[in-house]
Amino acid sequence: MTDDIQADIAAVSQIPLINTLLDVICETTGMRFAAVARVTDTKWVTCATKDLINFGLKPGDELPLTTTICDEIRQSHQMVVIDDVALDKDYKDHHTPAMYGLKSYISIPIFRRGNEFFGTLCAIDPEPKMLNNPRVIGMFTLFAELIAFHLDTAEKQNKSESELVREQKIVRLQQIYNKDLALANEKLAATQKQQEELLKQLTSANAKLQQAIETGNMGTWSIDPVSYEVTMSEYIRELFGFPSEGAISVAQILETIDPAYQEALATILSHAMLQRKDSDIEYPIKNIQTGERNWVRATGRLFFDEEDNITVYSGVLMDITNRKRDEDKQAMLAAIIESSEDAIVSKTLDGIITSWNNSAERMFGFREHEAVGKHISIIIPDDRLAEETQIISKVRNSERVEHFETMRRAKAGNEVPLSLTVSPIRNEKGDVIGASKIARDISRQKEAEERLQSYAEHMEILNTIGQTISADLDTQGILQKVTDATTQLTGAAFGAFFHNLVNDKGESYTLYTLSGAPREAFEKFGMPRNTKVFAPTFSGDAIVRVDDITKDPRYGKNKPHKGMPDGHLPVVSYLAVPVRSKNGEVIGGLFFGHPKAAMFKKEHEQLAAGVAAQAAVALDNAKLYGEIKVLNAKKDEFIGLASHELKTPLTGINGYLQIIERSMPADDRNKNFIKKALAQVGKLTSLISDLLDVSKIQTGKLPLSYAKFDLSTILTEVSDMMQQSHITHQIELHYNKKSIHINADQQRIEQVLINLITNAIKYSPGAGKVIINAELIGEKVKVSVRDFGIGIDKDQHDRIFSRFYRVENLAAHMSGLGIGLYISHEIIERHKGKMWVDSELGKGSTFTFELPVG
Ligand code: ADP
Repeated sequence: MTDDIQADIAAVSQIPLINTLLDVICETTGMRFAAVARVTDTKWVTCATKDLINFGLKPGDELPLTTTICDEIRQSHQMVVIDDVALDKDYKDHHTPAMYGLKSYISIPIFRRGNEFFGTLCAIDPEPKMLNNPRVIGMFTLFAELIAFHLDTAEKQNKSESELVREQKIVRLQQIYNKDLALANEKLAATQKQQEELLKQLTSANAKLQQAIETGNMGTWSIDPVSYEVTMSEYIRELFGFPSEGAISVAQILETIDPAYQEALATILSHAMLQRKDSDIEYPIKNIQTGERNWVRATGRLFFDEEDNITVYSGVLMDITNRKRDEDKQAMLAAIIESSEDAIVSKTLDGIITSWNNSAERMFGFREHEAVGKHISIIIPDDRLAEETQIISKVRNSERVEHFETMRRAKAGNEVPLSLTVSPIRNEKGDVIGASKIARDISRQKEAEERLQSYAEHMEILNTIGQTISADLDTQGILQKVTDATTQLTGAAFGAFFHNLVNDKGESYTLYTLSGAPREAFEKFGMPRNTKVFAPTFSGDAIVRVDDITKDPRYGKNKPHKGMPDGHLPVVSYLAVPVRSKNGEVIGGLFFGHPKAAMFKKEHEQLAAGVAAQAAVALDNAKLYGEIKVLNAKKDEFIGLASHELKTPLTGINGYLQIIERSMPADDRNKNFIKKALAQVGKLTSLISDLLDVSKIQTGKLPLSYAKFDLSTILTEVSDMMQQSHITHQIELHYNKKSIHINADQQRIEQVLINLITNAIKYSPGAGKVIINAELIGEKVKVSVRDFGIGIDKDQHDRIFSRFYRVENLAAHMSGLGIGLYISHEIIERHKGKMWVDSELGKGSTFTFELPVG
């Protein structure tokens, strides 16, 4: 139901006496149902009822419009009155009476103001009633008009009430508006105040700016957009050297500018004027009065009028010479830092890297962007982290750390040896805020030191090897020592020394030694041949050092193996050094091998070459020694032969002389000469027999005939005999035992004693005394012969027992062959005894021998 119908129902119910009206209708007409219905073109709605027949309609209930007669009344605006349906010609067949079971019916239209149809006032009954008379119709019409009147009045009243509400609303709105207005006014006042404040501040800022301009290195300028005349403050005029008054043209300004910047400034000016761009440019100027050069910065702004024409182009110009100088200085410093060979790094006291130059990039492998912002520990090896803490604590105390040698770690992980100098960085207040680090790569220095060290070590090794091999006169021994030493020094897995020799028949042959490999490893392959690989070594052309011999172009060129034969030692790294004798002749080669590639370095090559040179000398010596040995053997053979040949005629001479002597009368004047001749022959005989002894010793054929005898007796006899023939010296004999029995060759022991006593007398002219001492100590007898003569220098003590050795520069009368002591020493040694000398130059000598007793 629409709101309007609802309102109409409500309006009807509010009509005073509406129920009374319906009661009156029912009582006066006898009708038992009466109602007020709202009838529109679509609906029939009950507004008020009086129901005595339980018709069942209440206010708000509807009847289908077409089932009612009221719809016809709405259209015709005519009342309908039926006393008895059955008798009424118009309605006896009408569907409504039949539908609702009514016999009597009355319905009067209700018209609102302006003849507007509202509905009907109606009554029905199931019985016929007397309705069609003026009294009933009059009553119904009056009541209908009353209802209409009430409805109209009520509507009027409703309308005026809503108007009142509207007016009240307007008044309220006005009040709110007034309040807002007051607030807005208040706000406006506050804003105005703020604006005034701002204006004040702006004015003061302007004043300050002006002040700054006037007092600082700044001036103001402006250019007239029409005349291009330049106006400038006193400061600028002075800076450019312009007169203090009078107009200045743009051209005049351009003249003061460094030519390199003139075009740039002219472009900026034209851009400002034509393209309306604000400007900012820095350029160098030259004062036209003083010639002084300065850098300036000019900023310019364009101002426009309401029609968008440029009114003025003006700005500020300031002297930036100092800043430029600082910038130049900084740029120079930066350039120095960047071009420095040393790594230069700065960091905060917390160790965060703040700058990183080119060399730092090179040295540590981190790019600038990778290092800056990181902690310095990215380049510090873990075991040196404590070092950094120490350095920083020194820097905090404003101390410098200079030339501190340490290690840092590069990005690739390798360690770089460095010399560090760390200095504190201070701010303007002088507080330490960080540290700058200059790091010099000392790898090369370290390398040089190491090289020097290894060179010194090599020299020492070479020296030691030199000494050992030069002491050796046996070729095979030298070869082995050299092979072992060089194989070890070069780090080779195996080494070989091939030595070419020529035998006494002029035939050449090769000796070789090996190290690190058994002899069988070589024997089956024979000697190295003159192949392309070996040729440079045996011809002595050069040292050959190859990282991988199997890839060398010289390798594998020869039949039948075309490379290393099967079963050959696995040589990959190869080093071969020729060995040259003093006269330049190649006497052999040293060869080294290793199963891994690139094992031999330059230093190994040098070492092997050094040893090779030493080896050559030692081998030369060994060769000479061998030759000497041969000559010596020949000499011994000759001596043996000669002495033997001399002995026979000498024995003859001796016999003949004795016969002559015996046959001579006792007073014969010439008998004395015969005696002297016999004595000389005796000497000659003993010389020859000594020489023969030497040769027997050499050939191992000195016979000894052992027998027991008393050494004391022999000592007495020999000293007596010697005393008789040597009157210049007193021969003293001392012994602690009356008899000292020994088992020895008596004649040979006598020979030793005679030899020692003869020497004692010969080498102590003018001394006058020789002391012989014999002592039996336990199982040994010790006999010494002491003189007080010229003595023997310490370094000669060993040598005097060698064959043919005589101390140099002896006086003429001290002649001899240098074999007496050699024979004596040999005799004593053959008796399992010992012989030695104690002597000091100028103080005499004591020769002692010791023999086992029994
Ligand atoms: P020779 O006496 O014939 O030269 P020896 O073999 O007996 O040969 O002696 C070797 C060398 O030893 C001598 O030449 C001499 O220089 C030195 N010599 C030997 N005995 C003495 C000694 N008693 N005092 C000093 N020098 C001696």
